[in-house]
Amino acid sequence: MNFARRTKSINPSLTLAVASQARRLKNEGKDVVNFGSGEPDFDTPEFIKSKATAAIKNGFTKYTPTAGTRQLKEAICAKLKRDNGLNYEPSSIIASNGAKHSIFNTLFALVEEDEEVIIPSPYWVSYPQMVYLCNAKPRIIETKQVDNFKIAAYKLKQNINPKTKVLILNTPNNPTGAVYSLSELQEIAKVCVEKNIFVIADEIYEKLIYDDSGHISIAGLNKEIYNRTITVNGLSKSHAMTGWRIGYLAGPAEIVKEIAKIQDHTTSCPSSISQEAALAAIAEDDGFSKKMRQEFRRRRDYLIERLKELKQLDFIVPRATFYLFCNIKKTGLNSTEFVQRLLNEQSVLLTPGIAFGDHDYVRFSFATSMGQIEKGMDRIEQWLRQLQRKS
Ligand code: PMP
Ligand code: GLU
Repeated sequence: MNFARRTKSINPSLTLAVASQARRLKNEGKDVVNFGSGEPDFDTPEFIKSKATAAIKNGFTKYTPTAGTRQLKEAICAKLKRDNGLNYEPSSIIASNGAKHSIFNTLFALVEEDEEVIIPSPYWVSYPQMVYLCNAKPRIIETKQVDNFKIAAYKLKQNINPKTKVLILNTPNNPTGAVYSLSELQEIAKVCVEKNIFVIADEIYEKLIYDDSGHISIAGLNKEIYNRTITVNGLSKSHAMTGWRIGYLAGPAEIVKEIAKIQDHTTSCPSSISQEAALAAIAEDDGFSKKMRQEFRRRRDYLIERLKELKQLDFIVPRATFYLFCNIKKTGLNSTEFVQRLLNEQSVLLTPGIAFGDHDYVRFSFATSMGQIEKGMDRIEQWLRQLQRKS
């Protein structure tokens, strides 16, 4: 049939496919250990839920302004000031149906046909696909485990040409757990300013950093980089609110005005009820995120101890997020073979690294209980022993 070419150039999301596979197997009653799903396994806290039920009861159930209620935008401004040292007026904020939505709308507003968007790999699965949807070209720059999966400024500079429009920078990073330092960000910002390119800063895992280094927003480094950065964040990961669909962006008012037009004509406002819930989450002093972070850290540390014992696997310790990106090259299997066989033979589900641009890796999500991690690691250990014996 005669479909538009743009959908032919993209694939379904592999991370979402893995999540639905996990749901399906669970519904079938299979005893699957799920290291696949990229969402907190915590329930949304009660104080957030009650704000939403109050909104329903009070009839707060109508359209709001496209970019979100004044109250929510003010709360986001206060959050960005408090946590990130960023100064924005409400006119520079758009609340949306998730960080994913904000990233797409930003790309759609910024990128012309055939322009290039720089994406360091491993990358979050949707970035290149979104660029294709804009009829533009992703320029993937590989980062290595020995470099802690971070792009160096000189490498960024080498890859910029007259068609380059945007850098997508994801710190903390999904799937590697890498966190950029102040000096690394300063160097990157210098290149972006010098070469006149925009930055989309995806900071959705900001609250899940396990050491004391802290999260740094690139937009806060100086006025020049502030003027060309769109900071994206959301509540999915910080407050276990993946299903509520609230994200937001902040950037220079003139860019934000353009992005708002796209949202006006495509989705209008995010759910009024979710916006009320978001207000409660954003105003909170991080108590819930801290609790989750402590638990994720405990699980990460356990997972690391178990993985260290497996000679066929190799990894660096993720400094943030609830993911661990693990090199499987020594097994002789590529990432889809590894994931498929492990699922068939041991009922353990991982996400293949190819989703993030690297077939030599698999991604563990430790957003699952300690008991499941223990069980999953027992199975993996046994399976790898069998694999070694056969080879
Ligand atoms: N960015 C990254 C790096 C992600 O892993 C995700 C997936 N949750 C998103 C953006 C999108 O998050 P959401 O749309 O749920 O806010
Ligand atoms: N971001 C999560 C992941 O990487 C959830 C799925 C998605 O939106 O891609 O698994």
